[in-house]
Amino acid sequence: MKILFIDSKLSKSLAMMSGNGIIIKHNGKNIALDPTKSTDADVVFVSHAHMDHLHIPSNGENILTSHETVKIANTRGYHMLNVKESLDGFEMIDSGHILGSRGLLIDNEIFYTGDVCTRNRAFLQGAKIPKCDTLILESTYGKSEFKFPSIKKITENVNKIISDLYSKGIPIILIGYPLGKAQILTSMFKHWGPIYLHDSVYEMNHVYNELGIDLGNSISYSEAEEYNSLSKKPWLMVAPRMNSKSKFVTEMKNRYDAVTIGFTGWSLANWYRYSSSLDYVLPLSDHCDFEELISIVKICDPSKVYTFHGYSIELSIELNKLGYDAEPLIRQNYRLSDF
Ligand SMILES: [Zn+2]
Ligand SMILES: [Zn+2]
Repeated sequence: MKILFIDSKLSKSLAMMSGNGIIIKHNGKNIALDPTKSTDADVVFVSHAHMDHLHIPSNGENILTSHETVKIANTRGYHMLNVKESLDGFEMIDSGHILGSRGLLIDNEIFYTGDVCTRNRAFLQGAKIPKCDTLILESTYGKSEFKFPSIKKITENVNKIISDLYSKGIPIILIGYPLGKAQILTSMFKHWGPIYLHDSVYEMNHVYNELGIDLGNSISYSEAEEYNSLSKKPWLMVAPRMNSKSKFVTEMKNRYDAVTIGFTGWSLANWYRYSSSLDYVLPLSDHCDFEELISIVKICDPSKVYTFHGYSIELSIELNKLGYDAEPLIRQNYRLSDF
């Protein structure tokens, strides 16, 4: 029987969201899952290129990750050496979260999802979920209030909003984080030309294009300003999620009467409704919703589930009700009975 240890020091750090990811000991090897600092683990797994999963590695680390993640990380200033795309006993499985994102299946027993999304979106296929004995499951939206509408429904809603605004000559800014969401938005709505990209989005779209994802020809915000293109309305822009009081969005609204549409799963949370001053917000996410997380557990059919990120406690409680042995990875001295 293999035992999974959650290193006490590290799991305590995880509770503070500032430590060094999850460590598992398996067959005498230390495996670091998405560490945020350099580590002397035998194998380091980097699931994808979002900042909360990247670290500046020391030279000696054996890093397991996808070539897409290496390239995207490079663009963001994280240079990984000693990178492998395969290693005996380890299988990387597409996690459907962003381009290049992977989960990790260890000896066909332990499956770490990384950030995961099981629904198809634009050019991304949903994650394929393997059977396993121990599941380490991302639980960002692990609460039943998070039930996302279908992609078809969201697409129809947004096309309708854009169509109405376009008929009045009003420009629109689609807002989502610059790596991942912005490329999905570009792909889904680029037929509404002309489309301009905030410079941070432009840079990431360029990397996606180089990796074989055709996001069409778009123009950067800087270029558009240079040629005074924005005064010809309407237009569509993709910009990163920013504070609604941020200078960029305020300026776009003041100068061009632009309307903002935000895209985030958090739009279903009560607290979000009161704090967001976007004109529209839709629950388009690169993560699973609650039911999709439960489905992952059913497909894996594991004897043990560890949840991490977001609503890890809430999801564990629900999974226990369904008869699974689940616990959140928060801190070592945590017990479900404490809650
Ligand atoms: Zn992510
Ligand atoms: Zn993440």
